[in-house]
Amino acid sequence: MQDPRRSTPRTDTVLADPRLQEATARLGLQAVKVAVNHALDLCRSGQLAPEDVADTATAVLSNVATSLRPVINATGIIVHTNLGRAPLSAAALDAVRAAGGATDVEMDLVSGRRDRRGHAVLSELAAAVPDAEAVHVVNNGTAALALTACALAQDKNVIISRGELVEIGDGFRIPELLVSVGAELREVGTTNRVRADDYTNAIDGSTAFILKVHPSNFVVTGFTSEVGVGELASLDVPVVADIGSGLLSAHRRLPDEPDAASTLRSGASLVTASGDKLLGGPQCGLVFGRQGLVEVIRRHPLARAMRVDKLTLAALEATLTGPPTPVSAALATKPEGLLDRAEQLARQLTGLTDARAVTSLGAVGGGGAPGVELDSAALSLPACLAEPLRTSALPVVGRIQHGRLLLDLIAVSTEEDPLIIESVRSVLAGY
Ligand SMILES: *Cc1c(COP(=O)(O)O)cnc(C)c1O
Repeated sequence: MQDPRRSTPRTDTVLADPRLQEATARLGLQAVKVAVNHALDLCRSGQLAPEDVADTATAVLSNVATSLRPVINATGIIVHTNLGRAPLSAAALDAVRAAGGATDVEMDLVSGRRDRRGHAVLSELAAAVPDAEAVHVVNNGTAALALTACALAQDKNVIISRGELVEIGDGFRIPELLVSVGAELREVGTTNRVRADDYTNAIDGSTAFILKVHPSNFVVTGFTSEVGVGELASLDVPVVADIGSGLLSAHRRLPDEPDAASTLRSGASLVTASGDKLLGGPQCGLVFGRQGLVEVIRRHPLARAMRVDKLTLAALEATLTGPPTPVSAALATKPEGLLDRAEQLARQLTGLTDARAVTSLGAVGGGGAPGVELDSAALSLPACLAEPLRTSALPVVGRIQHGRLLLDLIAVSTEEDPLIIESVRSVLAGY
């Protein structure tokens, strides 16, 4: 028996393979070397033939230089935080590509002088919400609120209802955020009920604003009462409303979800929101409202630490001006159409596995509209397929319900249907 270590090819020889040369140009030498070294180790230990080293290294290298992989979101949750929230529209992806190199993000090409950063995007945002005198964009919804509190409420107090002391996710809590930037919290009311005079009694000379936080990931029902923005706006201090989801105007299918335009019209001085929830854009935070207040926020030293990059600005502009986003398309889909698609998918798997079309209920997700159920349809498969589908070359993430794997179609585009079939077939072929 020959010692496999002696017949193992040299690293340079393997790297000279044209396919690995091409991968080096695409992904960088570092990534290619990791793949080659791994294959060489297999060869040294006798698990791989010397002539298969380059093949194996090529096979494990991905097409793009990121370990983030595209996933088909068949969870039935339209804005899924663990799956990157809103998927960008094709228009937004094109815009990101266009802005990726040197770009006029801060230059007026006519005069050749410095221009307000992203000024075209800001104009589009202002045009989308005419009720706002001014707008500002930061890195995410939390940054929008943190910067607002930092600029307006440092060493002052913020009045907030006990029913709105929200934990956003992963242990991050809005009250702790406010305190961390130097605001004093003045909690009013109880978990379930708060009255206008609770707010009135709490106002004093050092009140910066009243904060309304939309409970975007839970609902309180039963013996409840809250005070709306309209009523609070008649008090002597500004009202800041964190609406969360980023709806710019009212949505027919989500009647209880607050939107920026209506909230400003009710009298809020400022509205903060996320860009990657119901707006369907890139991760960013939006601030709308009174000119003077937005200006104070925009000029605060920390604003620079929260400013968005050119890629975000490009994607946001395309989200605002381009065709409907995948999120709004998902919200607009008719359940009958989804059931038709589920039936077609089930038919394509006839004889291969126990596949059925079923009606189901989707949801917006942690991004908004808690408790709202959206009529949908799903491809129902044996539950044992869940893990192999998640870990397949083309990951599909569904949900387990009543002992079945449901691949809910509400957040799946029609272009992804054939990919689902491909993924299921490849998993079944491996059994
Ligand atoms: C989502 C959300 C936030 C946090 O926004 P991020 O963009 O995740 O930072 C804050 N407040 C409310 C009400 C939210 O729904």
